[in-house]
Amino acid sequence: MSEQREQGVNGSVAVDGQRYEVVVIGGGAAGLSGALTLGRARRSVLVIDSGQPRNAPAHGVHTYLGREGVPPAELLAIGRDEVRGYGGVIVDGTVVAAERRDTGGFRLVLADGGTVLADRLLVTTGLVDELPAIPGVAELWGKDVLHCPYCHGWEVRDQAIGVLAGPLAAHRALLWRQWSEDVTLFLHTAPEPDDEEYEQLAARGIAVVDGEVAALEATGGRLTGVRLAGGTVVPCRALAVASRLTARAGLLAALGLEPVDQEMGGHVVGSHIAADPMGATAVPGVWVAGNVANPFDQVVGAAGAGVRAAAAINADLVAEEARRAVAARNSVDLAR
Ligand SMILES: Cc1cc2nc3c(=O)[nH]c(=O)nc-3n(C[C@H](O)[C@H](O)[C@H](O)COP(=O)(O)OP(=O)(O)OC[C@H]3O[C@@H](n4cnc5c(N)ncnc54)[C@H](O)[C@@H]3O)c2cc1C
Repeated sequence: MSEQREQGVNGSVAVDGQRYEVVVIGGGAAGLSGALTLGRARRSVLVIDSGQPRNAPAHGVHTYLGREGVPPAELLAIGRDEVRGYGGVIVDGTVVAAERRDTGGFRLVLADGGTVLADRLLVTTGLVDELPAIPGVAELWGKDVLHCPYCHGWEVRDQAIGVLAGPLAAHRALLWRQWSEDVTLFLHTAPEPDDEEYEQLAARGIAVVDGEVAALEATGGRLTGVRLAGGTVVPCRALAVASRLTARAGLLAALGLEPVDQEMGGHVVGSHIAADPMGATAVPGVWVAGNVANPFDQVVGAAGAGVRAAAAINADLVAEEARRAVAARNSVDLAR
């Protein structure tokens, strides 16, 4: 296998019908952390990654201890090198189909037609942020249109921050108020806050703007304001939006795994693949980790989940190997 692994680092040999103990689908923080753990556990591991990590538009990864502010692509490049350092194989590609084999394990098909066999699967495909259909939001996403104060709040501290209403609108506005005294809640198409929320918003000096948002205004690729349907432009340096957090899990349907609703504070805010605390799904042999399983995981949480799932996969393989060894020893004893 070591020769195959060496070849695989550089190309399609790695997915030319080869078999691995574990194939990791998705090479973000969760997948690479899982692969690193499995490589160090002396497992043959292949990572297949289509290169679209969720935080790609951001300048830096924040709250990742020891690498605060590192560019997302740099963190993943370091991770890839670390995985390869323990014999892991990484292939750029997209898994388009997964099926269970009658003889055990799984068969994966890549977009380029390559196939690969896996005894176990670790699925770390992340999620898709579905954005409100307001002109300018997608263009400024991850730069001045933001979702998470812990990822971006420090960078926009003390500036004019807009919050686009959606689920838990008043709560989100109060949260962003921690980073700036200049916060405006745009109700857009959402219902009005209730009396208690209005009281809290007013007490914290948060303006509430009624009326639909028509578009974002930008100059030189930077947000300057929020334009309402009536034409009024409210100056803003950053706009917080609540994206719908949709699990990227289409290929798991063929294995019998469908996403379930993700709730927060009584609202459905997206979907995820259900799993136990170690990442084991209802389908034997398939583990999930990172945002596909928990949309609220930040990078460090996704990495931790990848490590946990990898340890569980290794334990599962160890148990199977022990069962086989006992059966083999007993059959030798019987033959004597
Ligand atoms: C704009 C923005 C900024 C953020 N900033 C921060 C921050 O500062 N700090 C922080 O901690 N968190 C931040 N986050 C959250 C962070 O992006 C996630 O916590 C993290 O990406 C989750 O890691 P993951 O490995 O689960 O998924 P991802 O990083 O999204 O990786 C999933 C990988 O799987 C691949 N993939 C998907 N489907 C397939 C397939 N079928 N075949 C092969 N590969 C596939 C994708 O291409 C991708 O590379 C930010 C999020 C956003 C949207």
